[in-house]
Amino acid sequence: MTGQAHNPFHIAQSHVDRACAMLELSDAERQFLREPMREMQATIPLRMDDGSTRVFRGYRVQYNNARGPCKGGLRWHAQENIDTVRALACWMTWKTAIADLPLGGGKGGVTCNPRELSNSEKERLSRAYMRAFHEILSVDRDVPAPDVHTNPQIMAWMLDEYETIKGHSHPGVITGKPPAIGGSLGRSDATSYGGMCIIREVDREMNLRLERAKYAIQGFGNVGGGIAKLLHEQGGLVVAIGAEDAAFYNAGGIDVHRALEYYERNAMRLGGFDDGDVISNDELLTCQCDVLIPAAVEHVLTRQNAEQVKAKLIVELANGPTTPAADHVFNHRGIIVVPDILANSGGVTVSYFEQVQNTINYYWSLEDVHTQLDRRMTCAFRSLSAMAAEKSVSLREAAYMLAVSRVAEACRVRGWV
Ligand code: GLU
Repeated sequence: MTGQAHNPFHIAQSHVDRACAMLELSDAERQFLREPMREMQATIPLRMDDGSTRVFRGYRVQYNNARGPCKGGLRWHAQENIDTVRALACWMTWKTAIADLPLGGGKGGVTCNPRELSNSEKERLSRAYMRAFHEILSVDRDVPAPDVHTNPQIMAWMLDEYETIKGHSHPGVITGKPPAIGGSLGRSDATSYGGMCIIREVDREMNLRLERAKYAIQGFGNVGGGIAKLLHEQGGLVVAIGAEDAAFYNAGGIDVHRALEYYERNAMRLGGFDDGDVISNDELLTCQCDVLIPAAVEHVLTRQNAEQVKAKLIVELANGPTTPAADHVFNHRGIIVVPDILANSGGVTVSYFEQVQNTINYYWSLEDVHTQLDRRMTCAFRSLSAMAAEKSVSLREAAYMLAVSRVAEACRVRGWV
């Protein structure tokens, strides 16, 4: 969500270039993997509640489908543009490969400020998006899901519109639906639950002694709020939280349940909450803590603030929160960074479980979802950390090498490159 100084797609491409070089892939392979295979944009007129019409821009990028149908969320954000969507679709490709799911990568979105939309305008926008994009979406082609500022209700409206157009039931065309219409149990907090598995594994392997750790979390939506809740319930000390409008620090620990209630009651705002000192979102990133969890948007950790970060562990639950310059500083300072494409892959993993359940039309218990998710997150972390140690590279470099090599192999056996 940043200006051209940090063009997210150029940064995503630089990671691909580096992984291709480390893997000694051919120039054709590199050229193919650094670009989306397909993309579509649409102009979406929307009738507002007051009778006026506003025109929105919608996107869907199908980055790569060598390993299976494209998969990835839909983001509604005021600064969304084709390059943010390309970057996010690129990251989804590596994320599904790291998680070893039989899926490719895609992403979509609408440039809009959801806070300015009423519920009925949101419903009309969801349905209009589906009317514009339904031809390129299907269970075996491209499957959207929630992301920043979209949620199960929006997925439900979109599914309903899709099925109305097609005249058949197609529950697997979209994931993150409410359980009442085929959504998986455990999907809504899957990214946070997966993040908890990762924190446990890092602690175990690197002996960080996190029992008394202090956590700072940026972002208080589904993912940030979700991990704050899980950490708090497991006795973790959450010392800093921040939503888009306000952030707070309390060295003695924030009452997360009260913060969640406040946020819900105040239309996704924390401004006016009274448990702790008011800080800026920038101060949150550099506050006194052991574990920093960016769980909002991309490129918040930069060359400007990386030296001031106090955490010894950064778990990227947002997509792309760290610029390459900041990453370099963290590596140099010995701060462990668990990269987004591993750390936040719990969400898409349970989306995959949802697709499996929709296909066989048999639904798992919450316990089964958690067991399978934990097994996959643990296994992905262990193989990456073994690879990082063996090749003397960072977890991010190991993640990119593994993901890019899996996707390249699928492209190669198909005879594409
Ligand atoms: N939006 C989530 C992500 O960035 C989930 C995507 C999905 O479930 O398809 O990973």
